[in-house]
This record gives sequence, C-alpha cells and structure tokens, in this order.
Amino acid sequence: METKGNKLKTDTPGERKRLSKFDSSEEIGDFNYEKFHSACAEIFQPDEMEQERLKLREIFDLFDSNKDGVLTGREWKTFFNWLTLKPVNALLIVDVQNDFIDGSLALRRCGCNQDGADVVEPINRLIKNACFDKIIYSLDWHPENHISFYENLDLRELHVDSKVTKENAKAFDTVIFADPYVEQILWPKHCVMNTWGAELHKDLIIAPGSEQVCKGQNSEVECYSVFFDQNSEGSMKLQSILRKSGVNYVYVCGLAYDVCVKATCLDGLRLGHAIAVIDDCCRGVDDSNIESAKQQIAKNGGLITNSSDVLLMVNGKKRSIIMSYQLARSMTSIPFPETFANN
Ligand SMILES: [Zn+2]
Repeated sequence: METKGNKLKTDTPGERKRLSKFDSSEEIGDFNYEKFHSACAEIFQPDEMEQERLKLREIFDLFDSNKDGVLTGREWKTFFNWLTLKPVNALLIVDVQNDFIDGSLALRRCGCNQDGADVVEPINRLIKNACFDKIIYSLDWHPENHISFYENLDLRELHVDSKVTKENAKAFDTVIFADPYVEQILWPKHCVMNTWGAELHKDLIIAPGSEQVCKGQNSEVECYSVFFDQNSEGSMKLQSILRKSGVNYVYVCGLAYDVCVKATCLDGLRLGHAIAVIDDCCRGVDDSNIESAKQQIAKNGGLITNSSDVLLMVNGKKRSIIMSYQLARSMTSIPFPETFANN
C-alpha cells in the first residue's frame, strides 16, 4: 500500500507517518488477520503485542462482524477509524480531600496503614507533565444528616434483617436501614459540604480549565461512584463532561482505592468507557479489598497501570491494547461487557 495522503485524525507525528500508508477510501477486500496484526504493530509496542495476543484477536473479531475472516466495507472503515482515532484523555482525580487524608476518615487510621497524602505528589506530577485534554476532580460532598454517618444512626430506623443493632453498632459496621431498605457501612462523619474536611488537599494542584463533580449530596443515598449521584442534581455530570470534551480514554486515581475509585472504574467500564486505574496514585482502606478491587477492574476490561506509563500514553508515546480493546467494543456498539463481573 502506498501513501494516499488521507487525513488521519491522530496528531502524533510519528504515528501519522506510520499510518499514512493506510487509506480509508480503500475497499481492499483482503484485509485479513495478518494484515490487521501488522497494522497494529504500527501503533502498539512489540512486548504488549506479544503479551496481549488473544486481545488482538478479539479486537479483530469485533470488527469482523460477519465472521468471514476479512475486514471489508463498513467493517474496514470502523477498524480504520479505531486505528487512527485521536486519543482524547481525561484524568479523573477521586476525592483527594482533607477528611480522607488528615481528618475524620484518614486512611492511615483505617487498618492497612496507607497514607492518603501519598497520592498528592504523583498526581501533581501527572498534572504538570502529562498533556491531558480534561482534568476532573470529584468531591465527596455530604449534608450533615447523611445516611452513611455513624453519628446519624439515631436519625433512621433499622430493618429487623440488620444483624447489627443500634445498641451494638460501631463505626465501620454494616447495618440495614428499614426505609429505604438498604445496606450501609457506617462511616465516621466525613466530607460535610462547605467544611474543611471536604476541601481538596491544599497541596493538590488545581489545573486551569478543570472541572469539579460533587457526589453524595442526597442525604438518603450513599454514593461511591463519580458516575452516578442518584436522585441529585449532580447526577450524570461526569458523563456529560466526558461527552462534551469528546473524551475516549479515562485515567482514574485518588481515594479510596477499594471504595470510590473502584466503584467509579466499574461504572465507567459498564458505561462503555476505556478506563485505566493509576495504581501508584491511589490509596485505600483495606489491603485485601484493594487487591480484589484491582482484580475486578481488570476482569471487567480496565487497565491497571502506573503514572510512568500514563505519561507515555497521554503524551502519545505509547498505546494500550487493553484500553484500545474497550474502545473497539464501544465503536462496534457493544459498550457493555457481555458478562459483567461484580465479584
Ligand atoms: Zn462519603
């Protein structure tokens, strides 16, 4: 194939040169897996190509909708759009707030001795050095009478199913409320709106042009995922920011790994986003829960990565097959993992 001077959407000069050999108007009819594989070799690194051989095959199969072993017509065009899509990257910084670092729900007092403050420096480094198209900060943002506060236990009736009673309940226990019937972990009072505890950590850089999304504003509803603040005005705000900015890759970091970061990643994957969690920019509550959070994120198609790799990916030096697989799924209209694993 020779250069046809087609307009590629990718804006990385190296990639533009390598991909210029492909022409979207070409109706070849013989674009088989071998050719697909060598096209992929133009954008992915050899070690990842080797490691993710099965994923590559799955990506080809997604595009080959009539399963005849070649990408033709519409199949080829969808593949071409995927291959040359300009990455639009968002950094989602979850709940890097005083209460989770030095306040009432400081992670360092939660059992596995992690320190929430440790995420500030690597996140700042990413904000300064990685060219994100959009940076979003989420804030846990509760009214005084929020259902999740241990201190508010007397405000609501427990259901008879609740193994823990009001008399013997301690912070971090799980109870069942009667109306609405809902299981709830009793957290120490935290992130009350407009208080010091709910402020973002003073050393965290607030990037110009960034956005903030509050969650947990409805007193009766717990809210771990930044994607859904049920029954609240802020509901779906994150989705609309991502859509408006044309974001196709979402990098998630922050606090707490095994609670809000996990819930956000799983919801994002369920909604069809390509999601990566930045392992060294997260801290959590419980070691084994952090481990199972990572497993669940990976099992549902998310990438577990670190800030050095994120720098390479966001600055156009590297692409992830795992994230590109998620993108291929949404481009071929299978946004939901078919067997979404919750456990
Ligand atoms: Zn909360």
